[in-house]
Amino acid sequence: MMRLVFLGAPGSGKGTQAKKFSEKFGLVHISTGDILRKAIKDKKILGKNAQAYVEAGELVPDDIMLEMIKEELTGNTEGFIFDGFPRTLSQAEGLDRILDELGMNIDGAINLEVGADILVERLAARRLCKSCGFEFNLKTRPPRVEGECDRCGGELYQRSDDTAEVINNRLKVYREKTGPIEDFYRARGLLMSVDGGRGFDEVFGSISEMVDTVR
Ligand code: AMP
Repeated sequence: MMRLVFLGAPGSGKGTQAKKFSEKFGLVHISTGDILRKAIKDKKILGKNAQAYVEAGELVPDDIMLEMIKEELTGNTEGFIFDGFPRTLSQAEGLDRILDELGMNIDGAINLEVGADILVERLAARRLCKSCGFEFNLKTRPPRVEGECDRCGGELYQRSDDTAEVINNRLKVYREKTGPIEDFYRARGLLMSVDGGRGFDEVFGSISEMVDTVR
């Protein structure tokens, strides 16, 4: 059983990697961004409280996030991957407290390192399928038919926070608020950094090798 955190700026590929990785190793994939987007779409209270922050590329307050994570973890006896959480030092500390109470701990934090120019390029070119959620990139992984999902024929869309202005804010927020978490996990001997600027398979291979060392 493995319990991992995937760290990386928006556009670092952590979501795509975490999804594939969790499928391969039978881990629960906990993407806080996905949970929030669904709550907004379904008009849940959580969604109402989070919407303005998500749309502006700002962080949803820590107390809301920690409450949400507590719910996700209660009754979870499987391993898991956190994707997009924690995003502040106080979330990382809160997570440790929650895991402590549940008798769990984090086995490793994978840190995907990608240069700022590549991040902006990737985010602006990202398109997602409305039906199955599959992710395309207009440059590196374009759909066969424009605007249409290869897998299920669904309609492709661009995330409302993948626009130039919001992208820049999300990257700034990442540098300022999430960057310090690297030191938090490094100090605990858990940080494993990977060059995320390469192709999907190469990055996936490196992550698998890294994780092998803590299994
Ligand atoms: P993501 O899909 O991970 O890029 O997340 C999309 C948006 O959801 C972020 O820009 C934040 O507004 C919000 N969000 C996701 N995860 C967190 C978190 N751990 N803490 C605060 N806000 C978050």
